[in-house]
Amino acid sequence: MHPLAAPLLTGSRRALAQAITLAESTRPEHEAQAQVLLSEVLPHAGRSMRIGLSGVPGVGKSTFIEALGVWLADGADGSGGHRVAVLAVDPSSARTGGSIMGDKTRMPALTVHPRAFIRPSPSGGTLGGVTRRTREAITLCEAAGYDIILVETVGVGQSETQVAAMTDLFVLLTLPNAGDELQGIKRGIMELADLCVVNKADLDPAAANRAQMELGSALHLLTPRGAVWQPRAVQASALSGAGVQAVWNAVQEYRQVIGARLEARRQAQTALWFDALLREAVWRSFVSGQDAGRLQATRRAVLAGELTPVQGIEKVMLAGMS
Ligand code: GDP
Repeated sequence: MHPLAAPLLTGSRRALAQAITLAESTRPEHEAQAQVLLSEVLPHAGRSMRIGLSGVPGVGKSTFIEALGVWLADGADGSGGHRVAVLAVDPSSARTGGSIMGDKTRMPALTVHPRAFIRPSPSGGTLGGVTRRTREAITLCEAAGYDIILVETVGVGQSETQVAAMTDLFVLLTLPNAGDELQGIKRGIMELADLCVVNKADLDPAAANRAQMELGSALHLLTPRGAVWQPRAVQASALSGAGVQAVWNAVQEYRQVIGARLEARRQAQTALWFDALLREAVWRSFVSGQDAGRLQATRRAVLAGELTPVQGIEKVMLAGMS
């Protein structure tokens, strides 16, 4: 057994923090140790609700997570108190050296809550690196007994797709100015949403009502016929905590409607993830065995139009086998 396994399984936050640090390390001996630890605790993972959350900067993600997180950790839903873990996916943290998300000071009450655990985005270099480490952090948090995992991501680029692919339910936070918002929100992101939350409803209740209706119809149009769950829009004011109950009711309803299909969703996610890792591993091992100069020459030939891309690949594959 890895020495961190036992304390982790008894719920030690210190062991959890150390385990995540180990899993984030890029040193080969740490990577190997982390994989041993992960495989040991894997049978104890999986018993949580994994919720992805996204929205443009300033929409109120951290305020909302703080409100929902404290509400759940306090047991305001009658649960006796959930254990809430907050993880972040922010590929920009690697580039800028500082994270715009996951900063603990953004959630002061949740940070000091004894039933909560907050971890900033790993600086994984690439989105793939950050994604892998966040997936592993989910497993470790679950093994440590956290039953609500909130995975936050900033609403730009590819990270939403990655977060939706590792969570059970994907929540998109929006602002009350729905007309503008609907144009600003990329259709692709709307399609990922199981739930839209119109935040800052207190600023303009009439606009929030309109936004809720417009988003509701847009979600309806985007939902394929025969889908088990109809994504919906609700309102909230993260600042006052209004609407947190409504959001949680929707999450509970989702869980009921999805029921046993949740396991199938997770299996499909793991299968896609395995395939992605396989592609990456095969690619890396193939390219590392190649003559870099020859590869470049073929690429140049394709760019010059001397070979079609398919012919270029055939040439590279032939060379790789010789
Ligand atoms: P994030 O960048 O998405 O994490 O957004 P923040 O949570 O940092 O919120 C951005 C700003 O909006 C902060 O000044 C918050 O106090 C404010 N804010 C967040 N939620 C609400 C809300 O429901 N109503 C109002 N009026 N302001 C809010």
